[in-house]
Amino acid sequence: MPLVVHKYGGSSVADAEKIKNVASRISAVQKSGTGVVAVVSAMGDSTDELIDLAHSVSGQPHPREMDLLLSTGELVSCTLLTMALSDLGHEAVSLTGSQAGIHTDTSHGRARIDRVDTARMQKELAEGRIVVVAGFQGITEGEDITTLGRGGSDTTAVALAAALEAGRCEIYTDVDGIYTADPRVVPEARKLDEIGYEEMLELANYGAKMHPRSIELGAVYQVPIYVASSFNDTPGTLIHGNPDEKQPEEKQMENRIKVTGIACANNVAKITVRSVPDKPGMAAALFEPLAQSGISVDTIVQNTSEDRTTDISFTVSGDDLTAALAKVEELTREIGAGGMVSETNLAAVSVVGSGMQNTPGYASRMFRVLADGKVNIDMITTSEIRISCIIREEEAQEAVRLLHRGFQLDEPE
Ligand code: ASP
Ligand code: MG
Repeated sequence: MPLVVHKYGGSSVADAEKIKNVASRISAVQKSGTGVVAVVSAMGDSTDELIDLAHSVSGQPHPREMDLLLSTGELVSCTLLTMALSDLGHEAVSLTGSQAGIHTDTSHGRARIDRVDTARMQKELAEGRIVVVAGFQGITEGEDITTLGRGGSDTTAVALAAALEAGRCEIYTDVDGIYTADPRVVPEARKLDEIGYEEMLELANYGAKMHPRSIELGAVYQVPIYVASSFNDTPGTLIHGNPDEKQPEEKQMENRIKVTGIACANNVAKITVRSVPDKPGMAAALFEPLAQSGISVDTIVQNTSEDRTTDISFTVSGDDLTAALAKVEELTREIGAGGMVSETNLAAVSVVGSGMQNTPGYASRMFRVLADGKVNIDMITTSEIRISCIIREEEAQEAVRLLHRGFQLDEPE
């Protein structure tokens, strides 16, 4: 029997009616002769509520306890969905991440999946059951429960699709698919029928609401990922390898629009370390300890040195700022730098498109659009298929609208 992995996000299972709606969607697939493994997120905002609760009883909740607490959110939705499926006459079974064989490393709060032991899921599937798995969690060698990081159920779903060799992974959410920009910000944004893993990874890393690690896994194991709404049957977006190679004759080759979408990540903070001695080892001395503390650093800019010292600026997520500042303050002293300053309420706006590779003019066009809109650029970074500018957060929405228009993304291809 063919097999598909579905994933339902928190808004799709936010209340009893929505859970029943999800059950009937899964029921239809099972009845059509395709086996289903369904991965669910916690109901609505319940993960946020659990986090608030933890902080209301403890100043610094222990990471192990925090993970066990947060894992309960997904247990609620996965058991309720299983009950609803039984009421529709199906054989269904709920499994925790650990029962589903999801083994992770020990980094609480951002654990990575080492392997999936599929034996239990295979047994249940072979007996004709629908398997409902609690997303976003796994178990360590030492049998402690871990979570994969916020939004991690996407990654659970793609990992299960890869391990079970399912035909594809379908991610159901409250939007109809992947858009050229956030449709709440840009009303003219267009839904993409398909997008490549690389571009999707850049969009996800820079603001689109998918767990970036799920896209990486999809690319490595070549799992096609279909993103669509759980509230209607509108066709969604297929994330897969080399979409352009599928129908070359339908595209106008080099003349087609080469930008795929505009992404925006809010809540960006910038740290500048002043007067860093200009000698080998300084960047390593700064960034290694940050990495070891699990703080992920994004845009990094080092100025050319004057008087044998240089300034290094970099961005972190606003959520990591307090932890990053504590670390950097200590490091500034250790490496003999002049001091540090930080700035909050920044955003990263990015233009993404694999067609930009080897084509001049995209960066200058981005800067022109922002200049004409009187948006000041604080920092700039590029990859082969992305140009990002750090700007003030309050200007970000307008910048996204300007760029969407400036790159003619509102015009149909
Ligand atoms: N419930 C978790 C969160 O809100 C995981 C997920 O939604 O994927 O982050
Ligand atoms: Mg959630």
